[in-house]
Amino acid sequence: MNRRDFLGSMAATAAVGQIVNMPLPIGENVRSPLPRAKWLENGLIDAGGSHEPYLFVVRRGGERLDARKDYEWNQSEELIRTLHGQGIEVFHTHLYKGFGMAAEKPEMEDARRVAAIAHRYGMKVDSYIQWNTMMYETFFAEEPRAKDWIQRDVSGLPILLVYGFQQSYRYRPCFTHQEYLDYLKQIVRYAVEEVKTDFIHFDNFDLNEEPDSCHCPACVEGFRAFLRAKYTPEKRRERFGFENVDFVNPPQWNRENRPEKMAIIFDPAIQEWIDFRCQVMADALRQMAEYIRSLNPEVAVEINPHGITGGNRAWENAIDHARLLTSTDVIWTEEENPCVYMADGRLISKIRSYKLARAFHNILLAYITDSDVAMAESLAFNQTLGFAGSAPLSPRMLQHVAFYRKNRELYVGAEDVAPVGVLRSYASLTYHHARAQLSAILVEQALIQSRTPFQLVFDEPLPDLSKLDVLVLPDSECLSDEQLARIRSFVERGGGLVAVGQAGVYDEWRRLRPEPGLKGLVAGQTPARDYEEEVQETIVAGPSRRKNYGRGRVVYLPTAQFDGPLPEREDYFNISNRFWKRPRNWEEIVTAIRWAANADLPLEVSGPDFLVANLVEQPARQRRLLHLVNYNAAKTPAISSLRCTIRVPSGKVVKEVMMYEVDAESPRPISFTPGPSSATFTVPQMKTYAVIAVNWS
Ligand SMILES: [Zn+2]
Repeated sequence: MNRRDFLGSMAATAAVGQIVNMPLPIGENVRSPLPRAKWLENGLIDAGGSHEPYLFVVRRGGERLDARKDYEWNQSEELIRTLHGQGIEVFHTHLYKGFGMAAEKPEMEDARRVAAIAHRYGMKVDSYIQWNTMMYETFFAEEPRAKDWIQRDVSGLPILLVYGFQQSYRYRPCFTHQEYLDYLKQIVRYAVEEVKTDFIHFDNFDLNEEPDSCHCPACVEGFRAFLRAKYTPEKRRERFGFENVDFVNPPQWNRENRPEKMAIIFDPAIQEWIDFRCQVMADALRQMAEYIRSLNPEVAVEINPHGITGGNRAWENAIDHARLLTSTDVIWTEEENPCVYMADGRLISKIRSYKLARAFHNILLAYITDSDVAMAESLAFNQTLGFAGSAPLSPRMLQHVAFYRKNRELYVGAEDVAPVGVLRSYASLTYHHARAQLSAILVEQALIQSRTPFQLVFDEPLPDLSKLDVLVLPDSECLSDEQLARIRSFVERGGGLVAVGQAGVYDEWRRLRPEPGLKGLVAGQTPARDYEEEVQETIVAGPSRRKNYGRGRVVYLPTAQFDGPLPEREDYFNISNRFWKRPRNWEEIVTAIRWAANADLPLEVSGPDFLVANLVEQPARQRRLLHLVNYNAAKTPAISSLRCTIRVPSGKVVKEVMMYEVDAESPRPISFTPGPSSATFTVPQMKTYAVIAVNWS
């Protein structure tokens, strides 16, 4: 029995009060990627249409008196013909909002008719399905069993979606209930077989923050069964001090100790409850993705969990991207991070979310239509446009669509060239977010604003490190013995390591290591603290140190320093974009990485700190492509005389450098000086976005 069947049967047995007791491997399958829909390899230009059914617009209230006309226009042939003529390739439209199939059937039939029109124009269809809403007023009338499928808080009250003040008719279903997932499968089947959709968008993919977590009988019993399945009795004794977890409950809170004020998560049951919530979401998604693929392997699966926002996503929202993006082709982020360079020196972007998506071969969808920089950022870091908006599309968007379609071959099949890896350690970020997230954000910010080519590395398990020149551990406090051994071996074989602050001083349960985990690799770490009732901030200080180790190089940096007074703490220690500023010691960080690499990085580009670069490669076309984005285009519309060196694979000779811009009719050659496996050239001037193709033979 695999885990999802297990959870399903567990839910059924829990209802009759039985105790399930069987050790099972937990969640291994969600760590390996599902096959992807092949058509997306050609990129994505998606636009709507509206995802709201008329029924919802009415129930929500406050609608225009001509809302019905608007609903009809949003699925009219006229609209589809217009979008098709504008180069849109995927039509986004409504399908299911959460009222129950009986209530929504007429509008689901509309969605089916609309899909047929879009298909007639050669477009693909993107269908909106609500993952996480049960509008109980109609749903309970259709399906009386659904009263047992909703999430309930510790007092037994339904848990709601959190829109404004007035949507208390939107209950959240509980994803440990197999019956709810089976219900959702009927909608998915309708989407694939009747609508013949090409793309399923699952909206609202998350859970509420504590104390709003589900305490329904299936979750309580599911949590205990999860602990039994995850750990042997001996391991449970090591984890909790006792073996019998039959009476362990989800965590509860009190007025003096609010969950949003908890700085460090020590409690093993809270740590495991976070893992359980993440796993329930990942398992439910995997089950649905496998079902979709079984009906039609070419239907793309997309969820809306948001990307890297600076929040503690696992703790707050049961989102561990590393367990989700193995099941998806595409993810949405609605994060409020515009692409802009602020007067106080912050560079706000969605680059982290794009890099997250790329790490799992996903495409990211975001609202990009209002800004040239956002469109450029998507082309540069997503290697496609993604979501072009809702009709009517803006003239600038249409110019970007036209540019992308004309020059599509610059993007298709491009692979990131990023030999620096920044570890986003699940346990470190989840259990001590205030330190580990801030450190990760600041290191990433230094790399972004210095145009250092990097990728994000996720753990559990760590990927193959041999493809990296340098691994950075930004206060990655909680590393397992196995991870430490892998890191040590990577350095022994010639890899570079930059360890920041408290990296490696705890194990994966955040138990203090009497000997620091990176002992021998780094020295001089400030002693770390074990359990404390009142958490005190550990001030880390000392000199940075360099060291050769095996065939590799190691740099220890005590800290990534925020530049200026640290902003006030937010709830849940959210490291929102108020913190997204180049750290004071950015040069030290970048220099350390370059030294540890012990090799030339593949690009060097001069320019201001609001100029950002991304380098990709198309091996079959024998070229590397440098994408440059000016985040301060609003105040500095053009940047001149950018000195660039791009390295190509060893032994290759550069034969041509061409520059492409959105507003230029055709690409133009740039004169260059060839070097050994490299080209050096000057970009005379660029505006918001430029692509420079460096071709070799
Ligand atoms: Zn539940």
